[in-house]
Amino acid sequence: MTYIISICSGKGGTAKTTSAINLGMALKELGKDITILDANLTAPNLGLNLGFSKIPITLNDVLKGRNHITEAVYVHSSGIKIVPGSIAIKDLSDIYPEALKAAFMDLKKNSELIIVDNAPGLGREVITSMKNSDEILIVANPDLASATDALRTVKLAQNLKVPVRGIVLTRVGSSKSELSMHEIETIIGKKVISIIPEDESLKVATRQKTSITNLYPKSKSALAYKKLAADILGKKFTEEAVKEKKVHKLFRFLGFRK
Ligand code: ADP
Ligand code: MG
Repeated sequence: MTYIISICSGKGGTAKTTSAINLGMALKELGKDITILDANLTAPNLGLNLGFSKIPITLNDVLKGRNHITEAVYVHSSGIKIVPGSIAIKDLSDIYPEALKAAFMDLKKNSELIIVDNAPGLGREVITSMKNSDEILIVANPDLASATDALRTVKLAQNLKVPVRGIVLTRVGSSKSELSMHEIETIIGKKVISIIPEDESLKVATRQKTSITNLYPKSKSALAYKKLAADILGKKFTEEAVKEKKVHKLFRFLGFRK
């Protein structure tokens, strides 16, 4: 059965796209078939962040009824599949967010695990996307605006009866005046299940059209995304497991292992 995880936030710019890409790549490394869908119709940057600049068929074409979703799936060099949105303003007209539901259903036939990179806020496309997801991950930053907006997203999820797995607290350590994990949990009423530090290398990875898990696999932020991926799959995560994988790679390189 295909499983759909929606990545949501109240406030914009919290690191949803960054988390969708890095979590997606970490899940792929654990052997899952991953598709990331860009459901942020007004600011779609998933494709651009992964190096897809000229995209002939986008999610917008699917939502306009011009193409089938399978025609809007592109494969990144890492092996993850993405469904990008169109960056052209003209492609925003005649879009029916309700058509997202049909797109989800069709995509489910071709993927094991779908990650949805949502728009911020509580708009129509977010509601449609949430309603059709199996669970929600909230991405928040340790500041009051981000936490209170995240709370509204959690309330919406509760109204829609979609389970919230927890909070991915990102960009931690960027400011002396930031809220503590405990304060965030108290405001939002959900557990922080992952802490991603403020890490300039994430921007470097984006510039190189890849993930931090790929570029600097042993960095704190890469390990945090890998741990989150392992937790989601119910697998045990240890840094030894990462090291062991490197040893396997070396053995493979030397021809001792397939
Ligand atoms: P959203 O999709 O929620 O709008 P993005 O994923 O596009 O947010 O991230 C917004 C900005 O924050 C981007 O420039 C991204 O590179 C940066 N960013 C994300 N996570 C981190 C982090 N842990 N440390 C430093 N910068 C980050
Ligand atoms: Mg985004």
